[in-house]
Amino acid sequence: MEMYRTFKLRVRAILWIMMIVLVILAVTVLPGTGAKPLLPGTEAKPLLPRAGAAFPVGGEVQEERVVYLTFDDGPSKNTADILDVLKEEGVKATFFVIGAETERGISLYRRILDEGHAMGLHTYTHRYGEIYESADSYLKDIGKLSDHLEKTAGIRPKIFRFPGGSNNSTADREVLAEIKKRAEREGLCWFDWNALGKDDRSWVSDPWDICQSVIETGGDRKRIIVLMHDDGMRTTAAEAVSMIIDHYRELGYRFDVLTTETEPVRFP
Ligand SMILES: [Zn+2]
Repeated sequence: MEMYRTFKLRVRAILWIMMIVLVILAVTVLPGTGAKPLLPGTEAKPLLPRAGAAFPVGGEVQEERVVYLTFDDGPSKNTADILDVLKEEGVKATFFVIGAETERGISLYRRILDEGHAMGLHTYTHRYGEIYESADSYLKDIGKLSDHLEKTAGIRPKIFRFPGGSNNSTADREVLAEIKKRAEREGLCWFDWNALGKDDRSWVSDPWDICQSVIETGGDRKRIIVLMHDDGMRTTAAEAVSMIIDHYRELGYRFDVLTTETEPVRFP
């Protein structure tokens, strides 16, 4: 009888240990092996619900849908990878560049233009504290970048993007208003964005997360201006670009570059 009780206790103890091990396994191992969680409203693939009868791809009633891929803060070694993907896909994008002085940086300016992409100004130094001190310092900085680009790549871009966006909190509102007024007088046109990769973090983002973020923030707008970055940190940008292109292609969007003729997306 005593032996039987000990046996029962042992069995119970073993069962408990097995349960605890299973729970630990479920908590630690399973989330890592499954598919990445999707954002609400998205499916495995395509990431956004496929457009149905209301938007027949290739049909005559098809509405014009455009994605403008834009890259800030380059050129860097990652720009070359992005250019490779764009070339492979036959897609043109817009690069808001900063002041590059190295041979590689300058050759990337030329490659961007040679391969049919658009180039915009994003300030030479990208130092918020200096450029946003006054309208004078901002315009002096982008003037320096224009001179540099003219000398090295033969272009004086007519489009630009404010570091941090046209409503950033680093600059005073009066400074921003003055920059806009004077830029317009000089025939310069600025662009913000309505979709973003959220890739400009202190860590490198997973390409899947960048793509999800673009899709979530861009929604089903007819015109989507995507903000991404091609500085030296963004090693996963090229892979994300390929996913983003696949996604919007499936939905029937075309891709285009920004020009002074493009209706801008601007923050209020
Ligand atoms: Zn920037």
